Amino acid sequence: MLKKTLLTLSFFSLLTVLVSFTFEKRQKAIRTIIIDAGHGGNDVGARGAYSNEKDICLAVESKLAELIRKEYPEIKLIRTRPTDDYVQLHTRADIANKNHGDLFISIHVNSAPAVQHKEFIGNKTVVTYVGKGKKKKKVTKQVPQYRYYTTPNPAKGTETYIWGAHKNEDKEVAMKENAPMLTEDNYKQNYGDIDPNSPEFVALSLLKTKQFFKRSATLAGMVEEQFTLAGRTSRGQKQRQVGIWVLQATAMPSILVETGYISDRTEEQYLNSQEGQDEIARCVTNALKSYITWLEKQQVSSDGQTQAPAVSSKETYSFLKAVEQEEQKRKALAK
Ligand SMILES: [Zn+2]
Repeated sequence: MLKKTLLTLSFFSLLTVLVSFTFEKRQKAIRTIIIDAGHGGNDVGARGAYSNEKDICLAVESKLAELIRKEYPEIKLIRTRPTDDYVQLHTRADIANKNHGDLFISIHVNSAPAVQHKEFIGNKTVVTYVGKGKKKKKVTKQVPQYRYYTTPNPAKGTETYIWGAHKNEDKEVAMKENAPMLTEDNYKQNYGDIDPNSPEFVALSLLKTKQFFKRSATLAGMVEEQFTLAGRTSRGQKQRQVGIWVLQATAMPSILVETGYISDRTEEQYLNSQEGQDEIARCVTNALKSYITWLEKQQVSSDGQTQAPAVSSKETYSFLKAVEQEEQKRKALAK
């Protein structure tokens, strides 16, 4: 009996040690996650046949919040827009930065414009007269006639964006690339009082490029991998240099998930369904799990205990490789 009690005790203490070890590791890898539902309030985002992007973003983000809290109760989770209100982009970035987030995940919905068609439907005979009086002549002309119509854009599937590692460590180029933001009509509305040419902002972008690119790209690849596993059409991971301001302004690895096309009938239905929203939230959570495991392995490897893990998916690997090659090309040109 005593033996049994001792055995049980030691089993539980071992369990406690194991659990606390895992807990500690998790705490180290990721302490705070910021999740962000795109748009909100007056900013409805993309419009579908019967729904708006902002509502889908919020619904998916809420489910994602629930799942992350369940899976990782020790992680501090911060939501930039938990209600249907518009939160300025710089405020979202501020929330993320002030809370020292380890990760920023923004949820969006894609849209593609209807495809314009021009169809030849035959010639129309048009009669005109040239000259005056007796010299007046009748001229007939054949004028082609067209029918114009649109069809829904066939684009569908998911995309995960990361801030384009701006292939420059050069401040001047960074400033030039950020300049177009200033000329946008709704600049004030979108970016508040932040000056993208300010030294702080440029410094932040460069820091971001250096430190977080690989992490962001790895997580983006993992998210797309999960979507593929779930049977979605993955359009892959992408990087944008200028455009997704909030990705650049957050001083942490960050991704923006385009969860599907609202312009596609079937996807609009999927995006508005409970099953669809649950599936998207699960995919992102699964990717987060892989990412945390990957980070923990990296930490262990930096302690010299194990080998660094291979980058998760083939796609991520080739993506990183391509970026690296471009970087080298650019460096070679600069010489
Ligand atoms: Zn959006």
